[in-house]
Amino acid sequence: MITIKNYINGQLIDPISKNYIDNYNPANGEVYSLIPDSDGNDIELAYQAAKTAFSSWSKTSLDERSDILLKISELIYLNLDKLALAESIDNGKPLKLAKRVDIPRASQNFKFFATAIMNFASESHEMPGVALNYTLRRPIGVVGCISPWNLPLYLFTWKIAPALAAGNCVVAKPSEITPMTAFLLSELCIEAGLPPGVLNIVHGLGGKVGNEIVKHKGIKAISFTGGTSTGEIIAKTAGPMFKKLSLELGGKNPNIIFADCDYDKMLKTTLLSSFANQGQICLCGSRIFIEREIYDKFKSDFVSKVSKMIIGNPLNDNTQIGAIVSKSHKEKILSYIQLAKEEGGTIIYGGNEVKLEGELSEGFYVEPTIIEGLKHDCRTNQEEIFGPVVTITPFDTIDEVLMYANSTEYGLASTVWTTNLNKANYVASELQSGIVWVNCWLVRDLRTPFGGMKSSGIGREGGFEALKFFTEAKNICISY
Ligand code: NDP
Repeated sequence: MITIKNYINGQLIDPISKNYIDNYNPANGEVYSLIPDSDGNDIELAYQAAKTAFSSWSKTSLDERSDILLKISELIYLNLDKLALAESIDNGKPLKLAKRVDIPRASQNFKFFATAIMNFASESHEMPGVALNYTLRRPIGVVGCISPWNLPLYLFTWKIAPALAAGNCVVAKPSEITPMTAFLLSELCIEAGLPPGVLNIVHGLGGKVGNEIVKHKGIKAISFTGGTSTGEIIAKTAGPMFKKLSLELGGKNPNIIFADCDYDKMLKTTLLSSFANQGQICLCGSRIFIEREIYDKFKSDFVSKVSKMIIGNPLNDNTQIGAIVSKSHKEKILSYIQLAKEEGGTIIYGGNEVKLEGELSEGFYVEPTIIEGLKHDCRTNQEEIFGPVVTITPFDTIDEVLMYANSTEYGLASTVWTTNLNKANYVASELQSGIVWVNCWLVRDLRTPFGGMKSSGIGREGGFEALKFFTEAKNICISY
């Protein structure tokens, strides 16, 4: 049994309480490691280490910081197989996906921000004959980063890398449900020579140790990715303390398919945007709207493709649908399928829990599920399910589909399929979401602003937006 340790002041240590929580392998439902059940005392230790480290880390040259972050990026890449296996076992996602997406992207996050900081510049504003203003951007101090379980190392590093690149010291908490790759990252940070205290990773429960990060007076900014209701709790604590806040929250994303789309590309991509990572990606398109003239064709082709998807051992090469991350999340997904039936929906494919044979018989698996016949404003179509469940709905006009798409409280991402450029531009401009993909999905340029509108969050990550978030701007005005 592996015992995960906290990474504080450059050391891998036990939680002060010596208490641990069980960590499950969702593929077989067994406990396979122990996680520190950290509390406020561990956060205080981490904070003091970060505070001490800040005075020198914030003054390192950009070159020096960049070099260390590049070293971490390289080590992640060199350990790709080990990290991908750990991610798959901890999360239930297909190993192939972890190898192709999660771990390469974690390495890329460090590489991207190691180089971005070398190109980051601040503005100057001249008032001719009067004065010159210039903006200084300085690291904030000790910042908190809290991330979810769906893309564990990918999203953890997406926060940590810009925070460190900008010269901050970090107290970070991965999800207690998927802590393993964050633990392995701490070993790589030691190997890379990251000075003690610059990054501290404290494991444990969100409502306990996560909350201690949020309410700590010395931690000046919180970058959080997770559910909207957790974001609300965090905002209630951090808001009155005037902390800088970046909240990347839930979504209920529309996938809008017009009859004039590139049909084959759309169908292939829609399979992924619906069910990749068991539908547990905040950017998955869970509400599919199809122009009526191709509705029946789409329905039969989509069901045919989905019925061929292989559900199974996440470690097998041909598995397309792995395990759901936890027993409680599996139950939440099944309860939404039940709700869809009560709301009058018809399950046209899937809808059931899957029991695998042999040693995986206690794992958490759900069939990819397609539901039709629901109103756009019912709970199934308004609330985030975050699993392998999509609804399909026909539409007749652009105004109608825009009304459906924009009817939820969320505004994270949308996908539009059409070969008509004017239509694409119009629909994209009217959609209430932070990201719109036209004729593609999950294509990511790390320089672009990333984040949601409405209840999907506040602030943007990515590119210089992240470096702006993790720095404090100061205007200096010099009279001529
Ligand atoms: P949660 O909100 O439950 O948890 C996110 C993180 O916050 C975890 O580390 C959790 O710890 C911690 N946490 C929980 N309660 C508190 C608290 N009171 N104070 C501080 N920290 C806390 O989200 P999930 O992990 O369930 O992730 C799924 C959600 O994340 C979905 O809603 C999804 O849409 C969203 N998401 C959004 C993305 C975006 O970019 N907008 C990207 C990916 C996911 P613990 O695990 O121990 O509870």
